[in-house]
Amino acid sequence: MQVKQQEKMLLEHSHTAWKPHNFPVIPVVKTLRKMAEAGFIHTPSENAPDVAQCFVCFKELEGWEPEDDPMEEHQRHSPNCAFLRLQKDTAKLTLQELLKLHKERMINLSKKEINLKIIELEKYAANVRNEVSSFR
Ligand SMILES: [Zn+2]
Repeated sequence: MQVKQQEKMLLEHSHTAWKPHNFPVIPVVKTLRKMAEAGFIHTPSENAPDVAQCFVCFKELEGWEPEDDPMEEHQRHSPNCAFLRLQKDTAKLTLQELLKLHKERMINLSKKEINLKIIELEKYAANVRNEVSSFR
C-alpha cells in the first residue's frame, strides 16, 4: 500500500468508519468518535451487530455498553497494540509513524491469517483421524 492510500485509509477511518445507523447499540455520535479515535472500525456480522475491530492489531471486541471507554477497552484487551503505543491523533502522524503502523498492521494481518490456517488444518486433521479410526 502506498503512502497516499494509507493517508486516505486513516482519514476514512477517522471520519466515516462509524455510522450511527450501522451501530444500534450506542447511537451517540460522540461515542462513535471515541471508537474511531481508539482505532476501532465497525465490522458487524449477523450474530454480532456491535463488533469493532482495531485497524492495526485486528483485535475484535463486542458487547459494548454505553459506559465503556473504547480506549480503555482496547488497552485492556490488546496492551501491545502499535496504534495504542503511539498515543497520537491519526491526523498528526508523521510519515515514519504511518509506515511503522502499516508494517505492524501487515505483521498482525499475517499472524491472524496463519492462525486461521492452523485452526483449519487442525479441523482437517481431526476429520482424517476420525476417518482412520473408523477403519479399525
Ligand atoms: Zn489495536
